[in-house]
Amino acid sequence: MPDIIQLLPDNIANQIAAGEVIQRPASAVKELLENAVDAGATEINLIVNDAGKALIQVIDNGKGMSETDARMAFERHATSKIKNIEDLFKIKTMGFRGEALASIAAVAQVELKSKRPEDETGVFIEIENSMVVKQEPIAMQTGTSIAMKNLFFNVPARRNFLKSNAAELRHIVDEFIRVAMSFPEIFFSFTSNGQEVFHLEKGSMKQRIVQILGNSYAAKLVPVQEQTDYMNIYGFVGKPETAKKTRGDQYFFVNNRFIKSAYLNHAVMNAFDEMIAKDSFPMYTLFIDLDPSQVDINVHPTKQEIKFEDEKIVYAFVQSAIKHALAQFSISPTLDFELDASIQSLDAISKPFTDEKKSSASSSSLYNTFTKKNQSHFIESKSELKHWRDFYEPKDKLTDDRWPLTGGQPAAVQQLHTTNEQRPTTGNLLQLHNSFIAVQTERGYYLVHQQNAHERILYERFALAVEGKPIATQQSLFPATIELHAADAVLLKELLPDMNHLGYQLEPFGNNTFVIQGTPADVSQGNEKMAIEKMLEQYKHFSNDLKYSKREKLLRSLALQQSIKAGVSLTGKEMTSLIEDLFNCAVPNTTANGKPTYLEFKKDELDKMFGR
Ligand code: ADP
Ligand code: MG
Repeated sequence: MPDIIQLLPDNIANQIAAGEVIQRPASAVKELLENAVDAGATEINLIVNDAGKALIQVIDNGKGMSETDARMAFERHATSKIKNIEDLFKIKTMGFRGEALASIAAVAQVELKSKRPEDETGVFIEIENSMVVKQEPIAMQTGTSIAMKNLFFNVPARRNFLKSNAAELRHIVDEFIRVAMSFPEIFFSFTSNGQEVFHLEKGSMKQRIVQILGNSYAAKLVPVQEQTDYMNIYGFVGKPETAKKTRGDQYFFVNNRFIKSAYLNHAVMNAFDEMIAKDSFPMYTLFIDLDPSQVDINVHPTKQEIKFEDEKIVYAFVQSAIKHALAQFSISPTLDFELDASIQSLDAISKPFTDEKKSSASSSSLYNTFTKKNQSHFIESKSELKHWRDFYEPKDKLTDDRWPLTGGQPAAVQQLHTTNEQRPTTGNLLQLHNSFIAVQTERGYYLVHQQNAHERILYERFALAVEGKPIATQQSLFPATIELHAADAVLLKELLPDMNHLGYQLEPFGNNTFVIQGTPADVSQGNEKMAIEKMLEQYKHFSNDLKYSKREKLLRSLALQQSIKAGVSLTGKEMTSLIEDLFNCAVPNTTANGKPTYLEFKKDELDKMFGR
């Protein structure tokens, strides 16, 4: 028997390794941008076509590469950033593994142009399948341009795995923002299919945040700044009144590297405590700097996770730094017309401290800053859908017993027959715990879960609307605008046609802003902004679920988000129409997500239980 083990050829080994580093166009964007930053560039331009599937190009004015380095750069484990194992513990650059360019060269056609300031001419190199196919000198300015074309052209399985252009572009925008946010001293531009999406002039951190997240934050950022021997924190948090219903605008950077940390996010949320409603998210862009030996960044390069030597100190530090910042800067939301209507209506907004809060607060050093007039504005989290009635109006009574369902209905909608003795006899309805409704039937009773039931009703109503007759729109007299995080704007654009059928008339207005021209007749005016933000947040929860189409996810999100919640007291009339609507549904017994809407208790079984 011959021996069977052989070494993989370089290009195949590189392709396999590339799978770890380059999962989608956005991962390549991140690597190229970080290389440009590491090269000391002061101007960086990102150009993509077809959401990066056709072209990703990064042009920088950094220090460039020599001819030899330019060739070396594409070798696996080729890096200028670490030389020995000790270097790993004092990393100051974004990259250090020497894998990015090798990976890119394995899965795309690459064109590199680079020139150092001390060289007369630059070098041009073309690479395909990890092999240099062309090299020549060229005249160019100092800096580097790397263009990668037809990503995954030689790995069809991966190419097919890519999502829609809108989805991939959204990932790219996310990565771009994460890099651009932490280097306000560098000029960045981002051009997609010939259109400049971002043009970020050099400036202060504050200017950069406003450039990226929108002018609405301009006067509403609270600076955070604390320094200790162990670590520093700086950045900005949004004033409580800017908190949104979607999680978008939250950024943490450790030593300038974007990270995701539920743990640190919790510390921030804790610091905001009762200043914001429970289901809303404050904006923050926070930078933590600490000795690189105190963090382990040698985790997977794309995972954005991080380990701290001492997590607890970091948590406590972040929390108190933000509490301090919020206390120092007058943060009481003034009741003006710009304030979200839903916040104004919270009556706790103008209520003074409760005694309990007072005693705990007065023992802290922050007490004095909080007791100035007008600052006792703690917002209690009220039932989020105090206004649910605005969302919920009985539909016109259908002549038919059931929904007039036609073909092409969503997967979850199937006809289900109810016999007469199962039909509820509305009349004496009883609400229990403001959450359940007991309904008598001929053979027993149903215990209906009001939220689940409403979710089902809305889901079917929306499903019908996107397939057939759209939901009526009520034109806004004073169209509100809604400004979103760039990534959310891309998402919303994708959903616009279906939203339109559901009664939302939204128009893109440039700069991630949309004008709300009209809303479904049963969404009250003044609440439309919140309704849209909440819908997006809900949608994102579903968005990793590959099982469902975009539309299905939208339907489910809207139904979930607009349903009346448990804990809301209903009038007799409201209960009656809820029950009627539920049993007019094609599938009255479960929500679209499969939760039961009611339980049945049969009279004869109840009798038995009572020994009769
Ligand atoms: P790493 O960034 O981890 O070192 P990369 O594969 O991303 O690995 O890059 C390899 C090397 O190529 C870098 O260490 C750097 O020396 C060089 N390089 C890459 N991009 C640029 C650039 N835009 N300008 C100058 N040098 C670069
Ligand atoms: Mg790199």
